[in-house]
Amino acid sequence: MWYAKMYFSEKREFFQYDATGTQGVPNVSRELPFLESLLSFLELDCGALAPALRQIGEAWNRLIAEDDRQAGTNAMVELAQLKQRHIYLELLYVRWYDRFSRMGAFDNRGSEEDRQMLDELLSLPEQLPLYQRRIQRFFELVLDVDSAGRDPQQQASRSYLYDAPRDPELFTFRPIPLSFEPVEPGRCSPVLYSGGIRDMIDYSLRSCVERDITVRRCKNCGRWFPQTGRVSAEYCERPVAQGEQTCREMGAFQQWTKKQSDDPVFKAYRKEYKRRFAWIKAGRVTDKEFYDWSKRAREKKAECDSGILSLEEFTAWLKRS
Ligand SMILES: [Zn+2]
Repeated sequence: MWYAKMYFSEKREFFQYDATGTQGVPNVSRELPFLESLLSFLELDCGALAPALRQIGEAWNRLIAEDDRQAGTNAMVELAQLKQRHIYLELLYVRWYDRFSRMGAFDNRGSEEDRQMLDELLSLPEQLPLYQRRIQRFFELVLDVDSAGRDPQQQASRSYLYDAPRDPELFTFRPIPLSFEPVEPGRCSPVLYSGGIRDMIDYSLRSCVERDITVRRCKNCGRWFPQTGRVSAEYCERPVAQGEQTCREMGAFQQWTKKQSDDPVFKAYRKEYKRRFAWIKAGRVTDKEFYDWSKRAREKKAECDSGILSLEEFTAWLKRS
């Protein structure tokens, strides 16, 4: 029996599946930051995937209709290529691999299950970009803190009549196979038992609303990110261009620098600091004298920052110290 599940826990999301389809328990586990699968799906170039998906659909059709095993093998090879592109496609591969490996000599191809799987595969080139547009609209009307507002529950309840979206471009929710179980020591969570792309999107969007999580475009990299912490967060926590630093760390540093350069107290301190630092090289002061001075100057600066000293008093002290 084929087996895959997805769940959220704190700021992470988890995917587990039975890679061979024979164990009945998950033996592969993938862990991502919360909502990363949905956000990276939004950035996927579905137009580029369409030709390969069409070929796979046609090959699978030949397998089902004409018992063409070679076509089936080709379909699986192509699917294995696609699975590198996204976790949703990885789960797609696993589901098809399971069906393919169960097709023995006595298997009756063309069952209801086979027809459904074929329909699903053939519709993917059209469906994937459609899902992207529906998610985009859901962001605009419900989740995006800048365009929709800070309260996803309010925004979602305004946007639907029962389970029908009021805007025809908006994502439509449907019943999905959810269970509920311990997912780590001391914590239970709803768990999705499905590797269907539509189900995983559905589960991700409703989880954001249930958990009051808004999204925003990162001020540094421009990609969407979930606001799992403060709603005022402006930067994502992804690393900047393969570096160690995240957008959030870089943003914090830039803001600090900007704040400092606008601050007259810091400017006065910095100017005097540079002047005296040059004295070390010129031999006018020793290292120790300089560092003693800079320690006292920082204390005076702190007094000025807290209002004990005026800016004039502080600059006068800098001159005569
Ligand atoms: Zn970013």
